[in-house]
Amino acid sequence: MGQVQGSRTDHDRATFMIRMRRAHADDSSPAILAELSDLQRLVTSEPAVTIDRARDLQERAEALGLREAVAGALLCQAEGHQRSGELAAAVTLINQACDRWAPLSADNQVRAYLLKAFVYNDLGDEPTALQRTLDATAAFTPEIPLPLRVRVLTKTADLLHDLGDQEDSVRYYGQAEELANGDPKMHLLVANNRAFSALEDGRVEDALAGARQLWSLSERYGHPLGAAGLDTIARIHLMAGDPVLAAVVAQQSVDASGQVDFQTADAGPYYLLTLAVVQRALGDLPAAGITLERARRACTAEGYDRCKNQILREQADVRAELGDHRAAYEMLKEFVAADADLLSRRREAQARIRQALFETLTAREEAARYREEARRDPLTGLRNRLYVHERLGELLEEPGPRGELTVALVDLDHFKSVNDEFSHEAGDRVLQTIGLLLEESVPGGDSGSFVARLGGEELLLVLVTADRAQAARIVEQARLAVQNHDWSGVTPGRGITFSAGVTTRVPGDTYTVLLGRADKQLYLAKSQGRNRISVYR
Ligand code: GH3
Ligand code: MG
Ligand code: MG
Repeated sequence: MGQVQGSRTDHDRATFMIRMRRAHADDSSPAILAELSDLQRLVTSEPAVTIDRARDLQERAEALGLREAVAGALLCQAEGHQRSGELAAAVTLINQACDRWAPLSADNQVRAYLLKAFVYNDLGDEPTALQRTLDATAAFTPEIPLPLRVRVLTKTADLLHDLGDQEDSVRYYGQAEELANGDPKMHLLVANNRAFSALEDGRVEDALAGARQLWSLSERYGHPLGAAGLDTIARIHLMAGDPVLAAVVAQQSVDASGQVDFQTADAGPYYLLTLAVVQRALGDLPAAGITLERARRACTAEGYDRCKNQILREQADVRAELGDHRAAYEMLKEFVAADADLLSRRREAQARIRQALFETLTAREEAARYREEARRDPLTGLRNRLYVHERLGELLEEPGPRGELTVALVDLDHFKSVNDEFSHEAGDRVLQTIGLLLEESVPGGDSGSFVARLGGEELLLVLVTADRAQAARIVEQARLAVQNHDWSGVTPGRGITFSAGVTTRVPGDTYTVLLGRADKQLYLAKSQGRNRISVYR
């Protein structure tokens, strides 16, 4: 069935271990992490089982507050859906993991990118899929497990091949192989996909070399080839003009799929189809007919439509060679209709999923914009009270290695009379200008300092500085900047000043206590004559 996302071996052992775990349900955190890593291996062969188990695991991890395990379990379910062809469900779960449990660990981030690549590839958008595998590569850190890295590099190579970039594809297969060396399952995965890409291109010599490598790796590791690898080899021998050998290997592939893969998506029917193609090449039309019937029966489950159509086509060819042109014609007609139907349904599904991807993206952007807007004052563009409440709360919880935390409560002097003397509009412009002057006075960047408008003509400077003296200097400079500003354009003949109450956080301070102290100092500044700052000591 061509390039595979992960090898299908070892799955029965994994299933067994999971059954054991279920019997002794253990909710310690190491047990949950071990089960998650089992599921990440199982998903390649048994997506449906994995989805159920991962959902259960997600709940248990949530109960224990294991964030990374929750995100991992969500991504595991997403992969199960992606492999079952349920792309919309996969997209929803990936977004859920990325949004609700952000920031993801490096490990989960790489998995999320790889999954997105699979989804885009399924949608027929190889360039975006490639972009995602490259994002995944860029997110590599030393703790990313080796099999995951091999999968990312192999998928990158597959996509480069599909996009016609042979040279880079070969380079990525090479990198993947170097990493996979010593790991039987992953090494066989890389070798299979590289051999399959040569087969697709019709590069007979490269494909034969690939087939030989698959056999020798299997021998070297003492690891039997799975159905997927055998299927690739059978098709390679058929292309190389050796249908006899192809028949032997195709039969082995079908046998292996019966043992290992019978629950795997559409793998079973594909291997039977290969066997039938080989049997027809050998001239054994009755055997080919019987194999195709088996393949068709194996296609009963949903999502195998593409395979079903290929089987129909092959059946028409067998009928034609048997001289039954009437039946061949009927089957061909059926194939053409089914294929057109498949195409239109795929287009519809793609449009729907693209829409879903687009909508989640837009919704997220809008939510972020709304979040930002809800924390800004519309008149001045300064932070607002809601932001202060959240951010100051966070800063107060920090132990304070960044420096001292100081607040300055700022109130304009005789502002009511500014409105009365000029206009409310002029008052608004004063507030906007004050906003700019204060922002210029306060250190920006990632210092942690910011300016907010609490409401009316009351503003707040939040300062994170090396010491309290520096904070007092900043507030005093702001006061001078406002006092010395040329106000003639806004309030001709009248200057603007403010008073401020300043205080620095002491251990045990809450939001209310800190601002309460600043308010008392502000009152002092006002009563001592305004246009001054009063610092609590
Ligand atoms: P003090 O020096 O004691 O602070 O005197 P004040 O006049 O500034 O104090 P008071 O609290 O009496 O008046 C505040 C005034 O601020 C009342 C209101 O007209 C004005 N104000 C509050 N919000 C806005 C606003 O958004 N725009 C404008 N233009 N004026 C505002
Ligand atoms: Mg006031
Ligand atoms: Mg005032």
